[in-house]
Amino acid sequence: MTTIIDGKQVAKQVNQATQAEVSKLVERGVQPGIAVIIVGEDPASQIYVRNKNRKATKLGMHSIVRQLPATTTQAELLSIIADYNADDKIHGILVQSPLPKQINEPLVTLAIDPNKDVDGFHPTNVGKLITNYAGHYPIANTPRGIMTMLAAYDVDPAGKHAVVIGRSTIVGKPMAALLTNANATVTLAHSKTVDLKAVARTADILVVATGIAHLITGADIKPGATVIDVGMDRDANGKLVGDVDFESAQGVAGLITPVPGGVGPMTIATLMQTTVELAKWSDLGE
Ligand code: NAD
Repeated sequence: MTTIIDGKQVAKQVNQATQAEVSKLVERGVQPGIAVIIVGEDPASQIYVRNKNRKATKLGMHSIVRQLPATTTQAELLSIIADYNADDKIHGILVQSPLPKQINEPLVTLAIDPNKDVDGFHPTNVGKLITNYAGHYPIANTPRGIMTMLAAYDVDPAGKHAVVIGRSTIVGKPMAALLTNANATVTLAHSKTVDLKAVARTADILVVATGIAHLITGADIKPGATVIDVGMDRDANGKLVGDVDFESAQGVAGLITPVPGGVGPMTIATLMQTTVELAKWSDLGE
């Protein structure tokens, strides 16, 4: 039997804890604040940003969406980031990707104060993740949310073979680091991996983050494995589907996340959780 991991339910629990934490902080005179900067009119990005803003406001946070035209220059964007770096009301800064081609994305990441880097993409924070630094620092929200989901379903990565497919800075690489820090034996597979499906079949925990609809089917899954589908893809009919063929995975996987309703809700809940933590660490030194 395959257990379907209910990402919405786990996200709800995370959001409830965040809301309670926001109330406590507000009583102490600190309202966590997030600034989301969006450059241009990419429709999917507009939806993501709107959802983030709505959730932050609902949880009692100070939330700003800064919409900039697609013609914004690198210098203009860096100057706006500098303003938010200096703004005491803002604890988390997020620059929504994709960015127009005149903008140098790595430089934008570097410009954000690491203490306000709510996405956890700044090399200082990535370095802390790789070294498994013992203090506080933000971690990329999608892989961190996946770790929360695994814990909620009592999946302990220690000693397991985890295969992560996809090596992006946003998902795959930090996911591999988190699983390594949690004592899994990790294989990081990608587009140049030879015999990807054979590698996938060796996974006790399989995380798929490629952006290729239904790349992995039931035949590529070890019976009883935990399967985390990060993909948000469109099939031929325009329907939202994952990187894993959910139907054929049924009865093979031990646990699996659906798309939608799996990783997606956890990412946004974890983003809110991280914003509150940044406020606590910076304003209260906790
Ligand atoms: P990306 O394009 O930056 O990286 C994709 C990775 O997949 C690359 O490392 C590449 O090597 C690998 N890859 C591509 N084709 C492959 C193949 N045929 N075999 C094996 N590996 C292959 O993508 P990303 O930003 O990591 O996003 C991946 C997917 O996850 C997308 O569908 C994206 O929409 C989704 N996503 C979802 C969330 C969420 O919250 N649910 C968050 C981030 C990304």
